[in-house]
Formats: sequence, C-alpha cells, structure tokens
Amino acid sequence: MSAGSVLVLGAGIVGLCSALALRRKGLHVTLIDQGQPGAGCSFGNAGMIQVGSSLPMAMPGLPGQVPRMLTDPEGPLSLKWSHLPALVPWGLKLMQNTKPEAVSRNEAALAALLSRARPAYDTLLAGSPAAEVIRDRGELYVVRSVEAFEGYTTKIGTCRRNGVAVEVLDKAAIHELEPLLAPEYSHGVYVPGSAYLSDPQLLSTRILDLFLAEGGIFETAMITRGGHVPDGHVWLTAADGRQFTADRLVVAAGAKAGQIAGWFGQTLPIEPLRGYHVTLPADGPALSGPVIEGEMNIAVTPMLGGNRVAGTLEFAGHKAAPTWRRAEMLMPMACRMIPSLTPRIETRWSGDRPGTPDSVPVIGPRKGDDKVWFACGHGMLGLTLGARTGQLIADAMMGDTEARAAMDAASPDRF
Ligand SMILES: Cc1cc2nc3c(=O)[nH]c(=O)nc-3n(C[C@H](O)[C@H](O)[C@H](O)COP(=O)(O)OP(=O)(O)OC[C@H]3O[C@@H](n4cnc5c(N)ncnc54)[C@H](O)[C@@H]3O)c2cc1C
Repeated sequence: MSAGSVLVLGAGIVGLCSALALRRKGLHVTLIDQGQPGAGCSFGNAGMIQVGSSLPMAMPGLPGQVPRMLTDPEGPLSLKWSHLPALVPWGLKLMQNTKPEAVSRNEAALAALLSRARPAYDTLLAGSPAAEVIRDRGELYVVRSVEAFEGYTTKIGTCRRNGVAVEVLDKAAIHELEPLLAPEYSHGVYVPGSAYLSDPQLLSTRILDLFLAEGGIFETAMITRGGHVPDGHVWLTAADGRQFTADRLVVAAGAKAGQIAGWFGQTLPIEPLRGYHVTLPADGPALSGPVIEGEMNIAVTPMLGGNRVAGTLEFAGHKAAPTWRRAEMLMPMACRMIPSLTPRIETRWSGDRPGTPDSVPVIGPRKGDDKVWFACGHGMLGLTLGARTGQLIADAMMGDTEARAAMDAASPDRF
C-alpha cells in the first residue's frame, strides 16, 4: 500500500464512493460530514441510475420555455423571486449553454461519464450487501399523447447515438410492463440498462459500513474554514474548533461545494436546485420499477419505505424554507398517473441538487495543484455518477493518465 492521507469533505453518495475508492488505493482516508452520511441530497432522490440521461438541462428551446414554466403553478420549475438577483450570474451561464455547440459538448461529456456509470457500482460494491440495494430494472418514460411523445425524439436519438439501448413502447407494451398505470398512457420509452435503488439511504449506510470495515475513518464535524499550505498539507477547521489535516482534500460537499471551493481560491458556479419528494403508502400492488411521467415531470419509484414520488425544480437559494406546497402537489399527480395509489402522504422531503450551468459535474484537481480535488456539481445525476466519480478520483490521484483524460471535460477550470 502506498502512503498518503486524504480528507473527503461531504459524505453524500459522491463523497462515500470517493472515500471507499481512495481507501482501496491504500490511502489513509478520513471522511467528514456535519451529519449522518447519505442524509443530504443523496437521501431524497428518485433512486434511479439513469444511463441514458446525457441531455443537459440547458437545451436550445429552454429560453423560450422558462416564462411558461414559471407561471404554471403545477409546472416543474419555480423561482423564489427574492432569490432572482443572486441567481442572475448562474442563470446567464445556463443560457450560454443553450447554444448548439455547448449542448453537443455537454452531452458528449455526460455520455462519456454515463457509459461507465453502472459498471462502476459493480466494481466498487461487488459481492457486498451494498450491491443488493441496486435493482437492475430499467426506467420507463410515459406520456399520454403523440405530441408529448415528440419531446422524446431528441432523447431517443441521443441514446442511440451514444450506444445506449432504448425501446419505444406502444400502449399495449406499456401496460404489459406496468399494468397499474392509467389506461391513457399511449407512448413510452424504456431504457433497459438503467437501474434503481430499493432505498438510497440504505445504499449510503452500506457503503459507509464497507468503508469503515476496510479501515476508513468517519468524523462528524461541521467544517467552517479550510486552506492549504503551498507545497504542504491541507487543513480544515470544524465549528467546535477541531482541526483536520492531510496531504490532500476532496471536496464532495454537494450544493455547498461552491462556497467551500472559495476557501481554496477556486470559483465553482454550483447552484442549489431544490427538489421535493413525498412517500405514498406501499399497501397496494406495486410498480415493477421506476416510471417517469413526461408531461407532469415526476418520477414514481417503488422503494422499501413506500412509493416515492419525486420531482420539481425550485430556485430558492440556500436559506429559504421549503415550499411544502411543491411537495404536496406531487401526490395528486401520482394518483392521476397510477389510480390504485393510496392518496395519503406519509413523508415529505426537500433537498438541494448541486447544479452546474452546463449540467456536467466537477471532477478533478484545482489547476496546477494536486492537493485540492473536487467531486461535486452532479445536479440531476449524482446518484447515477457517484461510483464512476469515485473511481475516477481515486485512479487519477494515483497517477492513472487514462482517468485524468476521462475527467478532462469535467475539470473545475472550465468556468
Ligand atoms: C427530487 C430529486 C430527485 C433526484 N433523483 C435522482 C435520480 O433518480 N438519479 C440520480 O442520479 N440523481 C438524482 N438526484 C440528484 C442526486 O440526488 C444528487 O445529485 C446527489 O445526491 C448529490 O450527491 P452529493 O454527494 O454530491 O451531495 P449530498 O448528498 O448533498 O452530500 C453532500 C454532503 O456534504 C455535507 N456537507 C456540506 N457542507 C459541509 C460542511 N461545511 N461540513 C461538513 N459537511 C458538509 C452535507 O452534510 C452532505 O451530507 C435527485 C435529486 C432530487 C432533489
């Protein structure tokens, strides 16, 4: 085993996978989080490993769609208007990324990362209880009209171009796969190579167990400051005064990573993209896998704790309280989609996706500085890309040139 110590700041799915992959390289790894590992955004996602989702959020039609989306109270997008001034710089970058050449670049970067996303979990978790949380059942997208289905033309073309298997389903095939769906669903797309989790928190807990069993260290600490000594060690200071030092740092702090990057002189435009979920009881017949409703833009995933209905994107900044109406509106939507669901909300949740304006995560070291590394900004795809990110970080830190090249398009210096 080679010597060397690393601090991983943030124990969401990205930090957990990075910490485990780094530990496997023989490094002394200390993983730090202010709370329970996996309890941030990684707790509340829709649980899908989405291998065909290489289309970025910034697409050519987006500027024209935003006003309509924002004025529809049940629409997928909402904005706390008091947050608008702070959002402008990020929003302008998002709009720059709607240009066709940027879209092609971002799509290619995501497709390359996604092509190794599912096997990376196999490599990291093989034979462990964590692997049992992942279920290899693809994701199904459904709509009620041929007009709505046209919205999937680009997705289908993109999948095929990138070698991702995709099947177009008619009404009979949709209902054969998911008999519980309302009869009006007439057009569907199935991505068989995707997967989903029976419980995202369970995956995090089991990865932590593996990490600890293999000699990793976990510390609960709210980190308030950090820095590094040129050509020396990296340090972090906790709110309670404790200090952590190591040869290297990986910033995997989710939506807070932009602020933390600033301590190290790095600018990262990471905007909290708030999402919500509600859980409906699992007391009736269950879906056989996750289903995404393309007109309401919601996903329903059958999980151990019930049917999780996830969706919506709210720009509200870090401090605003959750708009619980945005979560509660998911329940009637899900019942329109699956009439047999029990219309009762058992739990509700809100959390912040760490969003970059080009939808490409940030993976790699600070320019000219192998001390401070970033593994953040995964937006809508953090669960999908957690293991692949950890693998790349660990391989590249050990000097693997192929891994270095593979993280080029996700470099922190591109902004
Ligand atoms: C509604 C919804 C549905 C989603 N569905 C999917 C999906 O189906 N598939 C998919 O791939 N992705 C999905 N996502 C996105 C995915 O959940 C995120 O991209 C992912 O969880 C990000 O992981 P992370 O490890 O970067 O961040 P987090 O899970 O947020 O972890 C960051 C950690 O850093 C810690 N931290 C931050 N600052 C500090 C500090 N100063 N000191 C100590 N600790 C600190 C936090 O406590 C937290 O635990 C969804 C997101 C939402 C909101």
